[in-house]
Amino acid sequence: MSMPFSVVAEYYEKLEAISGRIEMTELLADLLRKTPAQDIDKVCYLTLGKIAPDFSGIELGIGEKLALRAIAMASGQPEKVIKEEFNKIGDIGNLAEWAISRKSTLLEFKEELTVEEVFSRLMRIATASGPKSQDVKLRTLAGLMADASGREARYIARIVTGKLRLGIGDMTLLDAMAEIYLGSRARREEIERKYNIYPDVGRIAKALAEKGEEGLKEIDITLGVPIRAMLAQRVKSLEEVFERMGDTFLAEYKYDGERMQVHIWPDGRVRIYSRRLEDITHPYPDIIAGVKEAFKGKEAILDGECVAVNVDTGEILPFQQLMHRRRKYGVEEILEKIPTMLFVFDILYLDGKSLIDLPLKERHSILESVIEENEKVQLAKGKVMKRDPKSLEEYLNEAVSNGTEGLMIKDLNSPYEAGARGWTWIKLKRSYISKMVEPVDLVAVGAFWGRGKRAGTYGALLLAAYNHEKDRFETVCKMGTGFTDEELARLPELFKDYVIDHKHPRVMSEIEADVWFVPAKVLEVIGDEITLSPIHTCAKGVIEEGSGLAIRFPRFTGKWRDEKSPQDATTVKEILEMYKEQLAEIKEK
Ligand code: ATP
Repeated sequence: MSMPFSVVAEYYEKLEAISGRIEMTELLADLLRKTPAQDIDKVCYLTLGKIAPDFSGIELGIGEKLALRAIAMASGQPEKVIKEEFNKIGDIGNLAEWAISRKSTLLEFKEELTVEEVFSRLMRIATASGPKSQDVKLRTLAGLMADASGREARYIARIVTGKLRLGIGDMTLLDAMAEIYLGSRARREEIERKYNIYPDVGRIAKALAEKGEEGLKEIDITLGVPIRAMLAQRVKSLEEVFERMGDTFLAEYKYDGERMQVHIWPDGRVRIYSRRLEDITHPYPDIIAGVKEAFKGKEAILDGECVAVNVDTGEILPFQQLMHRRRKYGVEEILEKIPTMLFVFDILYLDGKSLIDLPLKERHSILESVIEENEKVQLAKGKVMKRDPKSLEEYLNEAVSNGTEGLMIKDLNSPYEAGARGWTWIKLKRSYISKMVEPVDLVAVGAFWGRGKRAGTYGALLLAAYNHEKDRFETVCKMGTGFTDEELARLPELFKDYVIDHKHPRVMSEIEADVWFVPAKVLEVIGDEITLSPIHTCAKGVIEEGSGLAIRFPRFTGKWRDEKSPQDATTVKEILEMYKEQLAEIKEK
């Protein structure tokens, strides 16, 4: 039997009010314990504000307007009243609760909504297509709201409009699962290993709930389910490459474009996933055609980087141009304006077999033997090199002058470490070598109101790095420079959906911000150096008791890293590494 949805709504209400990370996980574990196996995947998705994993492409994405109409219909109030009240209340969930509660007092009897019922109606809303789809969505949502209690309506309204924002991430869910099914949160890693090759928390929870630990064995690489990308560590000097690598290694161009994981079915179907594991097949028909030709009849999963190229000269264009492609033009127009190419650098699966545990040199030779290169799809340029600083430097310069960011240095004996940022892949950028601090990607967790010229907008943002082990965000700086006036004025609007009235439980901060955010938005920041700081919580107590690490003179580079989730931000560990490197450098001088 499916569980009443009211149980879920009750827990969401409690989760929203909580301010500690451990308490949050415990409460979540409590909810999952109560949830029968048949509902567990659904409850996991709903808690993330979704109904399916991102890669499935199934999204609710109901606009505010439609939601308001549904609320009006469900509550029997005129749309005008609902709109006026929305302007006062500001939050669509609270509005729905207000409207539905007023109505439900008049009703005598309501059947209890189950998780199953809510979920299947949400699915109907998400998948409705065709000319009448808007109408189907509206009626289904209005019907669902009419059957809901006030509290249930609050969460349904937030879920359908993409505004649930409990701030619970996949890792928090995995923590809770480890506690329930493996007996301790300390065993999250065992579940995470499966999650890295099959990042679908619903599927994993279901396997665990049905079969316990044994269930994990069923989870394996599958076409149509993106594998989490392997990431690279950074170094600041050529010498450090030699310290980290063996006598020989692979040096490959580091193309500056968009990461692509390409899944190919033997019948020629192709799907492309982004580094955030979203389905990005649609805007790339040209790449798909190229891939089909290059891997005809194969069943494979490839890893590569897509770049924009100048048709006239064949030169590689900067990353920004590729991003434009998605935002600005229609697909047809783009094909002509900004043609792209895919450089393949890895193969993870071939004809029914996972290759991720093979050493890179074997994966590479398999890739070379199956690919038939064409104009659109080619192998990433690279060569096996020995420990020789001069030739490595020359190759780095060559890569940069060919329009890339530098080199990726790879250990030829390493497996593909899905989801990990290890030392078996190292990125060596020309820009690292001359700067003290390379840019970092930080998460905005709060803001401070501006004064004087900046009155009415934010004067600074409170930024944090991600602590992967503890699954939380630790502050590293306040940043108010680098924004254009326009951007500055737009900040409150940009963050409006993320504002909460207390510090988020996954945020560690000793600074009181004026406004708190759900950790969601990532932006690129450059600073002068990393210093010890008594007020920031990043790596607090690791280098010195009572001190954390902070970025001095942080400036916004202008790049919103919308393609990154907060968990993809620079980690506390990386900042710690950067601090140590910096110390070593000062000592040398
Ligand atoms: P950055 O901001 O430096 O791009 P990132 O955090 O986005 O870093 P990293 O893991 O640090 O990602 O750098 C590796 C990225 O470089 C990959 O995600 C991929 O998109 C890109 N890349 C370009 N060429 C290669 C290559 N030959 N091998 C692996 N990755 C490559």
